[in-house]
Amino acid sequence: MAKSSPKSKAKSGDKSLSTRSIHAGEPRRKYADSLTTPIIQTSTFTFKNSKHIEDYTKKGKEHFEYGRYGNPTAQIAERRLANLEGAEDCVVFSSGMSAITTTILTLVQSGDHIVITDDSYKKTLEFCRSYLKQFGIGCTIVPFGKYSALEKAIRKNTRFIFSESPTNPYLNIFDLVKLKKIASRYKLLTLIDSTFSTPFNQRPLEFGIDLVLHSCTKYLGGHNDILAGAVLGRKELVDKIRNLHKSMGGTIDPHCCYLLLRGLKTFPLRVAKQNEAGLKVAQFLERHPRVKKVYYPFLKSHRHYKIAKEQMKGGSGVVTFEIKGNINTSKRFLDALKLCYIGPSLGGVETLITHPALVSYYDYTRKQRYELGITDTLFRLAVGIEDTQDIIDDLNRALNQSR
Ligand SMILES: *Cc1c(COP(=O)(O)O)cnc(C)c1O
Repeated sequence: MAKSSPKSKAKSGDKSLSTRSIHAGEPRRKYADSLTTPIIQTSTFTFKNSKHIEDYTKKGKEHFEYGRYGNPTAQIAERRLANLEGAEDCVVFSSGMSAITTTILTLVQSGDHIVITDDSYKKTLEFCRSYLKQFGIGCTIVPFGKYSALEKAIRKNTRFIFSESPTNPYLNIFDLVKLKKIASRYKLLTLIDSTFSTPFNQRPLEFGIDLVLHSCTKYLGGHNDILAGAVLGRKELVDKIRNLHKSMGGTIDPHCCYLLLRGLKTFPLRVAKQNEAGLKVAQFLERHPRVKKVYYPFLKSHRHYKIAKEQMKGGSGVVTFEIKGNINTSKRFLDALKLCYIGPSLGGVETLITHPALVSYYDYTRKQRYELGITDTLFRLAVGIEDTQDIIDDLNRALNQSR
């Protein structure tokens, strides 16, 4: 079980996460006394008269002006997410990548340097490695979990350390206590992409992490029907990001915010179920004769089992595994599945399975893939909320047919 909770409770009120997932961030009485948060589908907002304009521009009275600068439905999504994560403030974006790139660009300028771990989302790494260079920003990619290498990579002009935890696809866990210690020694900001864990399973801010990032496309939205992202942390930092966001324009649509808010209402239920199902499926796979190796942070066999148990409440629904055989065995296994859909992404109610070598890394050579651990028989399963035994039966049948 995660150690910490009292601090976040104090900040977020006394109510439990499941109650806050449904009500936090909303006014008690909504437009026309509707029970659900209305979708304010507008690009612009009007002023009543000239006094209203001046109250807004000169006296700073709260008002929505233009859709890219803010929207009431989006604001409620931000307030709810901030409450759930125990953060002072939050900005929502049109995608996780928009949240990540806008956040990074807010924190650096030409001549700066950043440190990121190699086990990060493919597009995050690509942005840091290739695009930051165009602006004269240096980036050192350090091996995940090598804390002394990470410390050695820090330079005078380093601004922050960025990592994911858990990572994709091997579900490696970053020791947040160690990360914070190193960062404090050099007065660096720390950023954690917490997409795989959600505030149900992990609370990076309680470890002193400065900014938490989410692809809300995954567990927080939870229904494989939206793209959304968020950054959370201290108001002073989040305000700066919000300001650049207004120029970058990765604005989330109000209808999308509605779906996010709806998804959030059930996210503790879903993630609790996915924690349980993930572990059951991982245990099943570990016993299966056609399976070579299973990676799941709450299995004792996982290399980061101990840290996972200390800093997380559950292992979530992602289970990564390697089967015995070759690329053709993998194809036969995929083709035999009937319940699990083949597709990227994770965190939704539908069980999805992806074969990273054929999907996300199709453009890599076999050698490049193997260096990253993306082998021909590696699968990432994102367990949904269907009956767990049905998922296991589907995997079992397909594994037996893959031979
Ligand atoms: C999906 C994902 C992203 C990107 O989010 P999008 O919403 O697809 O833009 C970033 N980080 C992690 C860990 C992800 O899983």
